[in-house]
Amino acid sequence: MTCNEYGRTGMRVSAIGFGGMRFDTRQPREKNAELLHYAFAQGITYFDTAPGYCRDQSEDIFGIALRDLPRERVIVSTKGMPTDFGTAAEAYEAVCRSLERLGIDAIDLYHVWCLRRMEHYELAMRPGGQYEGLLRCRDEGLIRHIACSTHQPGHEVARILSRDEFAGVLLGVNILNFPYRWDGVEEARARGCGIVAMNPLAGGAIPQHEKEFAFLARPGETPTEAAIRFLVAAPQIDVALVGFTTTDHIDTAVRAARDAGPLGADERTALRASLGANLTEICTGCGYCRGCPENIPVAGYMQVYNERVMFHRSDEQMRSEVRHHYSWGILVGRQADAEECTECGRCEEACTQHLPIMERLREFRNWKP
Ligand code: SF4
Ligand code: SF4
Repeated sequence: MTCNEYGRTGMRVSAIGFGGMRFDTRQPREKNAELLHYAFAQGITYFDTAPGYCRDQSEDIFGIALRDLPRERVIVSTKGMPTDFGTAAEAYEAVCRSLERLGIDAIDLYHVWCLRRMEHYELAMRPGGQYEGLLRCRDEGLIRHIACSTHQPGHEVARILSRDEFAGVLLGVNILNFPYRWDGVEEARARGCGIVAMNPLAGGAIPQHEKEFAFLARPGETPTEAAIRFLVAAPQIDVALVGFTTTDHIDTAVRAARDAGPLGADERTALRASLGANLTEICTGCGYCRGCPENIPVAGYMQVYNERVMFHRSDEQMRSEVRHHYSWGILVGRQADAEECTECGRCEEACTQHLPIMERLREFRNWKP
């Protein structure tokens, strides 16, 4: 398994990370804990969990598994939301609870979790807030490094990372949405942060639509393997975090990582073009439509509309997608909604894919949460 340096921390992390959010909770915890042992035997050393994952069983499963893993050879990551732990004292207690459940003396990476708007970041950083509690934990050796996990657009990620408060960042980036998210990745890299990519399989969409995404794969490879390879091969990404349920999932990820060569800017450009050519009705995230006079995030809306085109989502499903993206996804922090479009036509003129943007924006009115 390839290993990378996580930012400037000196920590070595496996290129594939174990995401502890997809355990089969019908199984006994001990059985799920064996999955971590299996992953470790395949070279995976980055283990990520959080309170609440898998009906709140994930940290306990990790705790069982960690009893039999060499502590010094694994990196353990967990998280806490500033909206849940608003004061330094609450943040400190949350870390102590996670430590107890994980059965370890120190957490290698603790994430200020789920920053979706700048207010969340400001909440974490205010005097007496979560970050202050985490600094105390770090001073006392309860956590080694503080990172953040964010769903915000690239320019906001850049703002958050500009003050050197975080050793690294967890970002939702994958082979389908990278044109839209890559700015944030480059910013994080330029600032010397560790970068972990979450949601590598686009929420399961790639394995579920292997036929439609066959064009992403090299000969002898599945689209799922291609998606994992894409992240492992990108020198900007330290860990591709994959949620595992079975040993087969682990085998697939490990195989894809083994076959990954370096991925340069040229290949990324070719891939972007391939996305546009094979799925002619989709937004490639090129950004040429920027500058809407009403401040509507046109590319963000069109990325969400991609779901309709690629997976033939129903109105009901689109409503749910839009709700998700307003709260967690790429429309968080938008300055204006789709219905504020005055149909000036400027974005359509600029669109490299010649998309009927105004017509699509009109459809969003039906999907308003
Ligand atoms: S057509 Fe609508 S979305 Fe496009 S630039 Fe004009 S106001 Fe903005
Ligand atoms: S110009 Fe067209 S393809 Fe490019 S980001 Fe905007 S909507 Fe998407």
